Amino acid sequence: MGRKYNFYAGPSTLPVPVLEQIRDQIVDTGGQGLSMIETSHRGGMYEAVHNEAIELLRGLLGVPADRKILFLGGGATLQFAMVPMNLLGKGGSCDYVLSGAWAKKAASDARLFGTVRPAYDGGTDNFTSLPRASSVRVPAGSSYLHLTSNETIGGVQWKEFPESGPAPLVADMSSDILSRRIPAQRFGLIYAGAQKNLGPAGLTVVIISEELLQRSPKDLPAYLSYRVHAEENSLYNTPPVFSVWVLGLMLKWTNAQGGLAAIERRNEEKAALIYRAIDSSGGFYRCPIDPAVRSTMNVVFRLPSEELEKKFVGETEKAGMLGLKGHRSVGGCRASLYNGMPLEGGQALAALMGDFAARNG
Ligand SMILES: *Cc1c(COP(=O)(O)O)cnc(C)c1O
Repeated sequence: MGRKYNFYAGPSTLPVPVLEQIRDQIVDTGGQGLSMIETSHRGGMYEAVHNEAIELLRGLLGVPADRKILFLGGGATLQFAMVPMNLLGKGGSCDYVLSGAWAKKAASDARLFGTVRPAYDGGTDNFTSLPRASSVRVPAGSSYLHLTSNETIGGVQWKEFPESGPAPLVADMSSDILSRRIPAQRFGLIYAGAQKNLGPAGLTVVIISEELLQRSPKDLPAYLSYRVHAEENSLYNTPPVFSVWVLGLMLKWTNAQGGLAAIERRNEEKAALIYRAIDSSGGFYRCPIDPAVRSTMNVVFRLPSEELEKKFVGETEKAGMLGLKGHRSVGGCRASLYNGMPLEGGQALAALMGDFAARNG
């Protein structure tokens, strides 16, 4: 059917069986005589899908019962502001691990609301590494510690998460949620835009503890308050119903694959194919990232020159592989290997990399 291998960083590839279910169900969902996207968000048809998606996500990620799962709009970017607006308190201070472009954006918004200390600043080594989990210290009185579990542009990923002491741990998991097992009980708040690993753009998932919900100030505009959304089960206003529906399909697909342990294994296998192609190229390809924290989701690499990078990207496109150009801010190449990327996609890219190096090295 001429389907391409889509290595875009986001929005990103979805599993074909999920796309086929959308196609088959979009006009008449479940034989109910109307589409899921044209029914009231307060009716039983949508509510069943909404609540099922929450429980499927809870089960897959092992989210404890004392956490609320919220479905919001605004992307992960709105969370950069909502996190400090809800958690910081007047005159409060918080700590951010500055691991790359996304962490810096999150910290930049937080500075509008209080004091932000860098728990680590990767700027000194160009954001190619991460601190050891055990070396992260959070000062007493901190409102929270924020980290970015996977830097989508930079290509670094936390393998073990730090202890944050009495301060709750807050994580932007936009680009690796559902890609591996996580110790969900250790996080006070997790947020993720859906369009990398969860489904279509337009939905942001927030997982927040009951304890942190109590921090939302009373004088926040309603939409910006986690407490308001939690009290209304994310039905305070119209949720992104299409994206929530597809999230549910994605979660069922994930279970059918064998759950997160199986997904994690396959993601590691895919990433290993590409890192092996880089490491065995005799220096033709270079990955600048500390091997201990190389991302399984976004593999960044360089070729000997920008001319060769351009030529390489051109050849991948001719071979039906899209999205391998690196982010405009850093250049180079990037292969995003989210859950929807089949193993064959990784194999095809690794083979082309080997072949290209042999012809151009
Ligand atoms: C994509 C991404 C974002 C931004 O998400 P939007 O939904 O576009 O706001 C934030 N953080 C990380 C880690 C991302 O990958």
